[in-house]
Amino acid sequence: MEKLRVAIQKSGRLSDKSLELLKEAGISLNNGSRKLRSVAQSFPLEVIYLRDDDIPQYVEDGVAQIGIVGENEYAEKNCAVDLVERLGYSRCRLSIAIPKGGSYDNLKDLNGKRIATSYPVILEKYLGERGIKSDVHVLSGSVELAPSIGIADAIFDIVSSGSTLISNGLKEVETVMHSEAVIISNRNLKEGEKALLADLLFRIRSVLAASNNKYILLNAPNHNLQKIIDVIPGMKSPTIMPLAQEGWSSVHSVLSEKTFWAVIGQLRELGAQGILVIPIEKMIV
Ligand code: ATP
Ligand code: MG
Repeated sequence: MEKLRVAIQKSGRLSDKSLELLKEAGISLNNGSRKLRSVAQSFPLEVIYLRDDDIPQYVEDGVAQIGIVGENEYAEKNCAVDLVERLGYSRCRLSIAIPKGGSYDNLKDLNGKRIATSYPVILEKYLGERGIKSDVHVLSGSVELAPSIGIADAIFDIVSSGSTLISNGLKEVETVMHSEAVIISNRNLKEGEKALLADLLFRIRSVLAASNNKYILLNAPNHNLQKIIDVIPGMKSPTIMPLAQEGWSSVHSVLSEKTFWAVIGQLRELGAQGILVIPIEKMIV
């Protein structure tokens, strides 16, 4: 029988969340990023654990049918694979930074400068498209150190909070790309593998939609019922039920995490009471 092999990061910033996502999609693995491979119990799938750098190539070669990597790694390796889903975790950006005291007006200031990075492909493409010629110096780690030890004038690296830059006396001057965890897929899947991937993506999308939404219940005074319904952008339309108490209704709907606090504020102003907000476990989309 057909089986899907999924490559995920062995240990690092993507590992726990990727395993968690599979688990929430109903795929339990007999615990093990300590192993190199584990087989799922309830779905025809097995996971292999790799360095994230190796995942795009393994997926291109069909050693694994799909993989979970940072979008930065997908862009850098430039492999012949498809990006099939964005997963919303491990968000970061890739930026150019220079020493704190340095002057900087625009990208042209980087002409002829030495830039240290672990992401030469992304950087060269960005600079090339803008007609900038810098000397790109490839380092596999400790990139932030390069300016202070005199081997580069600038760096191009991953930034999340920016605190690593600050503690190395650097300042961010250009954001080149944003990244999040993504699912990549081999381009020559067999029919059975395609069907398994579609099933897996359906489950994953249901998990992601649920985590981005909340179920909301509230009591609304009937004189403001229509206004209350209007501020809740529910899935289709809210469920309305009369309360035993005259003049009041119970309203049930789904709210997106993004609009959540703004909508709650408006609902209170419109006289909504007894507002309950409940996490959704799965949301079938
Ligand atoms: P490996 O040993 O597998 O090669 P690594 O050291 O290259 O691991 P990690 O540091 O674990 O990689 O980061 C994995 C991915 O997580 C990165 O490619 C990036 O997409 C994302 N990432 C990196 N740093 C951060 C951060 N500070 N915040 C959020 N996401 C990040
Ligand atoms: Mg890596």
